Amino acid sequence: MFTKIKQIIDEGNRFLITTHIDPDGDAIGSAFSLYWALDALNKRPLVYLKDPIPYKYEFLPIPPNFTRELPTDRYDGIFVLDCGNLFRVGPGHEQLKEMGPLVNIDHHTTNETFGLINMIDARACSTAEILCALYESLDITLSLDMAINIYTAILTDTGSFRFENTNSNAFIICDKMVRAGVKPEYVSRMVYNSHPKERFLLLGMVLATLTTYANDTIAMVHVTEDMFRKTTGTREMSDGFVELVKEIRGTEVAILLREIPTGYKVSMRSMGSIDVARICNLFGGGGHKNAAGCTIPGSLNEADKRVKEALGIS
Ligand code: 5GP
Ligand code: MN
Repeated sequence: MFTKIKQIIDEGNRFLITTHIDPDGDAIGSAFSLYWALDALNKRPLVYLKDPIPYKYEFLPIPPNFTRELPTDRYDGIFVLDCGNLFRVGPGHEQLKEMGPLVNIDHHTTNETFGLINMIDARACSTAEILCALYESLDITLSLDMAINIYTAILTDTGSFRFENTNSNAFIICDKMVRAGVKPEYVSRMVYNSHPKERFLLLGMVLATLTTYANDTIAMVHVTEDMFRKTTGTREMSDGFVELVKEIRGTEVAILLREIPTGYKVSMRSMGSIDVARICNLFGGGGHKNAAGCTIPGSLNEADKRVKEALGIS
């Protein structure tokens, strides 16, 4: 299953590992775990992230070889993890293909198979699940540095084992990680109880924008630059707001519109068979059936109108 990827790893030495902008727990945990796995094989990996590590993931064992400057060297393999399309790596992503063989490892249904090698499994709960199978096939001894990253990736991507992507492998792998020394209480505390006060000031403003449609089955909130300024909140502090809105009884689709310099970044979450990846795809975005995103240029009014049209609630 991993023959080509194994060959690239066996024959190479210098590897670049990257993931998507606005990285989540699976993006960070996958990238860092692959770093420690390649390090265990005495290879020379480098992790490149365009964005800073979100505060809630700062407790993870950060690779010593880590950069936020897009490298320009050649590599024996470039691993793009948890990324539905290459664009999501951030500016300069076009260069990556010229820097070495691109290995695309992902679990998004909308993955655009942009790699030289594409290892896509939409049934996997997380990219980390696919990587765990790779580590096993490479006979890599699991270290605590790998385990804590893998555990965090699976914990966060499954919404603490609450989302539909929660499969039996999620439990099997996390059990293995706990046996390897990961402390679930510690990871939960770091990830979920480490928010600065400003996040809650921001949340207050965002919840005041709550509007529901279609008999309260659709709930929408927004966050503007002005709200970030007034609360001195940062973008990462709005992570998770859309999941909170989905907690409203009867909600089938939850939407967060977040202002960005060019317009609005849309985050959608859904229940059951409602496919928000398909809706986000209409705007050039994508993701998973129950968790997806896209960008809509223009004003809040325009974003609001277009999202409602796409959902048939205009
Ligand atoms: P979030 O709402 O947390 O930013 O993203 C939800 C899911 O949709 C994640 O799996 C994320 O990778 C994916 N996603 C978010 N925005 C985009 C986008 O603009 N394009 C694509 N292809 N996927 C996205
Ligand atoms: Mn993921």
